[in-house]
Amino acid sequence: MSCDLCKTPKTIRTCEECGKEICKQCVRYSEREAFRFLPNPSPVLQNQIFCYDCFTDKVEPEIEKYQRTLAAAKEVIYLTKNYKGIIPTLRKAKFPVQVHKHVDRRDAIMHMAFLAAHEDYNAIIQADTVQKQLRNEAYQTSEWSGSGLPVVIDIKKFERLSED
Ligand SMILES: [Zn+2]
Ligand SMILES: [Zn+2]
Repeated sequence: MSCDLCKTPKTIRTCEECGKEICKQCVRYSEREAFRFLPNPSPVLQNQIFCYDCFTDKVEPEIEKYQRTLAAAKEVIYLTKNYKGIIPTLRKAKFPVQVHKHVDRRDAIMHMAFLAAHEDYNAIIQADTVQKQLRNEAYQTSEWSGSGLPVVIDIKKFERLSED
């Protein structure tokens, strides 16, 4: 059977999105891991094997969106529950975010920040992280969980306040 896209005689994969038979040049792979912070990923992202067309039309925009949110997440202000300063809050989320099973604290915080940025919040307040020791037979490891409340704060005001 020849490639449904470019007619090359040998196909190696079937696109999980549209079912086209595709050759080595036309196949594209997506990894779920690449969207690991994304809450409720769309069904298309459950697939891992794509033809060039489906990847370009459906996966690439998701990658771009994810990268934009990740960039915004890196700017999210993270304040622990021990923060005593004034927080000029404009809007609060109804519910805190909670994350689990992270390899380190940094990863747990980044996940919380991503969830906040995903909903257009620019800060997380009352945040807390907890480390849990896990004992395996061979080695000891730990996993991190965290929680915090996404909010929108007046960044300019906040920066002025924290300069004092
Ligand atoms: Zn092809
Ligand atoms: Zn396809």
